[in-house]
Amino acid sequence: MFKKVLIANRGEVALRILRACRDLNIETVMIHSEADEDSMPVRLADEAVCIGPARASDSYLNIPNILSAARITGADAIHPGWGFLSENAQFADIIRNLGIAFIGPSPEDISTMGDKIKAKQTAEELGIPVVKGSKGGVVDAGEARKLADEIGYPVILKAASGGGGRGMKVVERPEQLEENLSLCRSEAKAAFGDDAVYMEKYLTLPRHVEIQLLADGKGNCIHLGERDCSIQRRHQKVIEEAGCPVLSNDQRNEIGEITAKAVGNMGYKGVGTVEYLYENGKFYFIEMNTRLQVEHPVSELITGLDIVEQQIRVASGEELSLRQQDISFYGHAIECRINAENPENFTPSPGTITQYHPPGGLGVRIDSHIFSDYRIPPYYDSLISKLIVHGPTREKAIERLERALKEYVIGGVQTNLPLHQKIIQTDAFLSGDYNIHWLENWMQKS
Ligand code: ADP
Repeated sequence: MFKKVLIANRGEVALRILRACRDLNIETVMIHSEADEDSMPVRLADEAVCIGPARASDSYLNIPNILSAARITGADAIHPGWGFLSENAQFADIIRNLGIAFIGPSPEDISTMGDKIKAKQTAEELGIPVVKGSKGGVVDAGEARKLADEIGYPVILKAASGGGGRGMKVVERPEQLEENLSLCRSEAKAAFGDDAVYMEKYLTLPRHVEIQLLADGKGNCIHLGERDCSIQRRHQKVIEEAGCPVLSNDQRNEIGEITAKAVGNMGYKGVGTVEYLYENGKFYFIEMNTRLQVEHPVSELITGLDIVEQQIRVASGEELSLRQQDISFYGHAIECRINAENPENFTPSPGTITQYHPPGGLGVRIDSHIFSDYRIPPYYDSLISKLIVHGPTREKAIERLERALKEYVIGGVQTNLPLHQKIIQTDAFLSGDYNIHWLENWMQKS
C-alpha cells in the first residue's frame, strides 16, 4: 500500500480523497494554488505545498510544479480527482516514468477512451451496444449528407476530443448539416485543439444511465449498479440517482454484466464509468470516463462500499477482494449538486459564506469543503457541496431529501438550493418519469 499520496486537485474532491487516505492510514500531501491557501483540504492534510497562482493553468494544471511537489515531499502516488489532470494521458505517463503511481488507469486506456471515436469503436468491439453512427470521423459535407440520410434525422455531431457537454451540434434537417459540420469542427478546434468530429443518431427522449465499474487490471472487473443522471442542464448533471427509477433488477444485472465483462476484457485497472443513453428499453454507449465521478456517492450508499478506497487499493497493485456476488444493492440514493450560482441565470456567485448550517440526520450525507467564513474563489467551478440522501425506498429517500434541503443554510452567496427544492416537488421527479431534456423544458415553462 502507498505511504504518501499527493492530491492533485482542490475543493470537495480533494477532501473526499483525503478522507479515504485517512481511513487507509496513508499520509496526504495537498497541493494548492495561492487562492486555496485557506481551504479545508489544505488545513486538514499532513503536508501542503503551494504550486502556483490562482489560475488553473499556473497551478492545478502545472505539471512541472506538481512533479516538484511530489519529489520534495516523497509522495509515492498521485490522485488526480476529477477534472484538471484526471484524464490527461500524458500526465499519467510522465509520472509512471518517474516511478510514481497514478491513481487511475493506464495512460493507454485513458487515451483510447479520451478519443470518443476510438472509444466508441473499442466499446463496439468489446460487445457494448452503441448508437448508430459514423464508423470513424466525418470528413466532408458530402460524406456527412450520405451518412445522415442513412442514419435518419435528427443526427448529432460530436467532437472526438469533446467533454463537459461541449462540442456537440444537433442537426434536425438536411439543409442545416453543412453549416453545423463546419461550426462543430471550428468550435472543436478552438476548444480542444482537435477538429475531428463524428456523427451519431440523435436520440430524442433518452435517459442518461451509467454503470460504475471497479477493475484491478488482473482480469477482475465488477459493476456497482447504475446511476440515472438524466436531470441535466446544458448537458451538465444536476441530480443523480442510484438506481435508475425505471430499470428492473434483471435489466440492471444484464447491462451491468455486459459492461463489466467488456471492461474486464480490456485489462482495465481502476474505477471507471460507462455512460449510456437509454431509450425504449435499449442501451446505447456514449462514452467511458476513466476516473472517479462527482456522483460516485450514490453508488456508495446503495452498495455500502468506499469507491475511493477501492480505487486506491487497486492502484497500489492489490487484487480486487470483491467479486460480483459480493455486491448487493440496498435502498435508493439521490444526490443534488449544490452550486454557488445565481438561480435565475446560472452565473457563478463566488464570495464569502457568512452562514453555514449543513443538514443531518438519518440517511443524509454532505460531501463539501465549505464552512462559515470560507471565501469561494472565482477561478474554479461553482460546485460547493453535494447533498446525498439514502433511504430504503425511493419514496423514503425523497422525503429525506426534502427534509435535508429545508435544513440546509448557506448564507452570503447565491446557490441553486431553491432550484432543487422546486425540482423534487414536480410530478415528473416524484414519478421518476423524466429524460435528459425534461429539466430544460420544465424550466422554460415555469
Ligand atoms: P461529454 O463528454 O461532453 O459529457 P457525452 O458524449 O457524454 O459528452 O454527452 C453528454 C450529453 O449529451 C449526454 O448526457 C446527452 O444528454 C447528450 N447526448 C450525447 N449524445 C447524444 C445522442 N446521440 N443523442 C441524444 N443526446 C445525446
